[in-house]
Amino acid sequence: MTTERYDVIVAGAGGMGSAALYHLARRGVRVCAVERFGIAHDRGSSHGDTRIIRKAYMEHPDYVPLLHRAYALWEELEAEEAGELFARVGLLVAGDPEAEAMRGQAACYQAHDLPHEELDAAAIAARYQGLALPAAWSGFYDPLGGFLRVEDCVRRHIALARKHGAKLYAGEPMLSWRREDAGVVVETERRRLLATRLILTAGAWAVPELCRLGVAACVVRKVQLWYQGRGLDQYAQGAFPCFFIADGEHYFYGFPAQAPWGLKLAEHNVSHDPVADPLRLNRALADDDQPAVLDFLARFFPALQPELSKHAACMYSLTPDGHFVLDIHPECPAVVLGAGFSGHGFKFAPVVGEILAELALEGDTKHPIEFLRLSRFAQRRS
Ligand SMILES: Cc1cc2nc3c(=O)[nH]c(=O)nc-3n(C[C@H](O)[C@H](O)[C@H](O)COP(=O)(O)OP(=O)(O)OC[C@H]3O[C@@H](n4cnc5c(N)ncnc54)[C@H](O)[C@@H]3O)c2cc1C
Repeated sequence: MTTERYDVIVAGAGGMGSAALYHLARRGVRVCAVERFGIAHDRGSSHGDTRIIRKAYMEHPDYVPLLHRAYALWEELEAEEAGELFARVGLLVAGDPEAEAMRGQAACYQAHDLPHEELDAAAIAARYQGLALPAAWSGFYDPLGGFLRVEDCVRRHIALARKHGAKLYAGEPMLSWRREDAGVVVETERRRLLATRLILTAGAWAVPELCRLGVAACVVRKVQLWYQGRGLDQYAQGAFPCFFIADGEHYFYGFPAQAPWGLKLAEHNVSHDPVADPLRLNRALADDDQPAVLDFLARFFPALQPELSKHAACMYSLTPDGHFVLDIHPECPAVVLGAGFSGHGFKFAPVVGEILAELALEGDTKHPIEFLRLSRFAQRRS
């Protein structure tokens, strides 16, 4: 078995690990990543063609400064190599004004000066004729919203990281890590890697480590669905934006229809199917994957006669408060954690990569991440 030395090892090169790899490599750091599967694979949490990106953040207004930086970094990434990553198609957030998501969105606009339009149901119906919302509902149109081409983003981060000298060991799971002297040792089947820092970005596979550290995190199965069918034109890219709709406590989101698969949508918080082992995720379509989404389409997208064209099972790594974990490992300062992205992390990938790189190299970050540190759980317990 060979032994190789690096400054930093990244364990898991999905959405977040690929970004961390890039940010370290572009600083000239000697860095490698070990990845269980291939590049932009479909076994974790960063696949399924698209991810919504938005700046007004209903989940917590403190994410907005991070989003300003994420937007700048996505632009840089697009400029560094040709090929669009971010489709700037706008986002409609709509629902009962009393729904938690709608109140969160309004609070975010109070706290941050972000462009938006407030629309009542009649204005929404006039703008998007295929959308039939209850008369008492309202919406916010976010011109900064849109979607990211998720696999292309991962590929771009990896390609540019390699261009800057990073090494990627794909198809090579990390079997173990342990501290040794001032650094860490990572073992795979093929090699032993030594480094002064390890960044753990193992997605759903990082959840047991969060649990061990006292964070009651869990992995849940989520299904993304694509539909073709008569009436699809009314929901096509160019005529229709990304959407996030709060149907009472049930949230649905989706993307304008595009070739070849049509309209993609999913529910965000109705079903929370626990996943005991991410390697055994049920990737087949289950009987209860579609009914809530089809009911949603029948009520609010009446022009569409939906025919399923594709599905993809994916995983959320949920923390108890739905916020990320970005921190230095409390038991081992050589290890940095980026985990628990709770089903809304992808849009942050480049700024998360930058934060993880700073935590690894400098022991701290210039970004405001106090609300994402592990200590918040300890405070709650005490
Ligand atoms: C259905 C769905 C819809 C979503 N929608 C949105 C959205 O619209 N907007 C948004 O911003 N976010 C969204 N998210 C969330 C976002 O996609 C995730 O938060 C993000 O992709 C998580 O990235 P990650 O790097 O933590 O995980 P992953 O991308 O899964 O990366 C973890 C990597 O670690 C590797 N790994 C694990 N263990 C090991 C090991 N021992 N050795 C080596 N490698 C290992 C895995 O193979 C994997 O590649 C959604 C998520 C899902 C599932």
